[in-house]
Amino acid sequence: MVSARLSTRVAIIGAGNVGATCAYALLLRGVATEIVLVDANREKAVGEAMDLNHSLPFAQPARIWAGDYADCAGAALTIITAGAGRMAPGQTRMDLIRTNAGVFREIVPEVARHNPEGLLLIASNPVDVMTYAAQRLSGLPPEKVIGSGTILDTARFRFLLSQHFQVDPRSVHAFIIGEHGDSEVPVWSLANIAGMRLPDFCTAREITYDQEAMDAIFRQTRGAGYEVISRKGATFFAIALGLAEIAGTILRDQNTVLSVSTLLEGGYGAEGVCLSLPVALGRTGVQWVLPMGLNEAEAAALRVSAGKLRAGIAQLGL
Ligand code: NAD
Repeated sequence: MVSARLSTRVAIIGAGNVGATCAYALLLRGVATEIVLVDANREKAVGEAMDLNHSLPFAQPARIWAGDYADCAGAALTIITAGAGRMAPGQTRMDLIRTNAGVFREIVPEVARHNPEGLLLIASNPVDVMTYAAQRLSGLPPEKVIGSGTILDTARFRFLLSQHFQVDPRSVHAFIIGEHGDSEVPVWSLANIAGMRLPDFCTAREITYDQEAMDAIFRQTRGAGYEVISRKGATFFAIALGLAEIAGTILRDQNTVLSVSTLLEGGYGAEGVCLSLPVALGRTGVQWVLPMGLNEAEAAALRVSAGKLRAGIAQLGL
């Protein structure tokens, strides 16, 4: 067996919308040489593995199969996407705590038993609370348990800003931090395009900095999940690529800085809570968390977000 330190095996628990699309993104990007899908619905995992294998003549070489928890052994990374999603209109991610805590009580100890070395990446919602649950249930060091956190919200924010300012989203550098959910925080004070703060960018481009438009962009960012779910029933393309981005950063030891959820030790009144800040990720997981120079309003909003997540964690009964 290849050690988890060297392997590029990725195990995905939950072969639903997010898990299967994530496997597809990993395959297209050539991130993993082995991808194993595990699902309570075995036939679903088998069907997804078949469909993915049929893509191989057009993609990167990889071994893909439907397996069980024993196949997590030696995986560098196990991505957990299993569990319920938001179904009813208006249902919040926090409404899923009890259901998905039960799912995690089944899954996480099994993964940890077969793979005590590899990293865990959590996508199931509410992702910050479930990341905390995964850390406690696995007994892994906090730097090895990462939640996708606000990687998706940050992507939505950058996209919407890019539309407003008519630039490539990759030239927009702006973070959403805190909860992946209703209390998330936009870091306007540090948002920039090619290094220029947004008001300065507007001055240089001779356009008006429109505060109301900025507020609307944040509201659209925060509500984007609801908007997509009300139309197509689930969100999965963007989060799947976000997970593949995180996996690539880890497996290739890139130290890319991404907004992901991790257990915080101090600062911002968020000790003992998993929430998102910009984090450098490498082969051993979290390398460092960037202490952002937030303004007072942003720091206060982050404390509110942390308080909400602390209340969510209390519901886990761990
Ligand atoms: P889905 O219903 O399509 O897939 C979930 C899969 O989990 C199913 O195939 C199901 O059989 C499997 N499953 C359930 N219980 C299991 C168990 N005990 N063991 C193994 N497998 C089990 O749902 P989805 O749309 O893929 O969403 C999955 C999760 O991801 C949800 O919690 C959703 O809210 C979350 N999500 C998170 C983000 C994010 O940004 N973090 C974005 C989208 C969705």
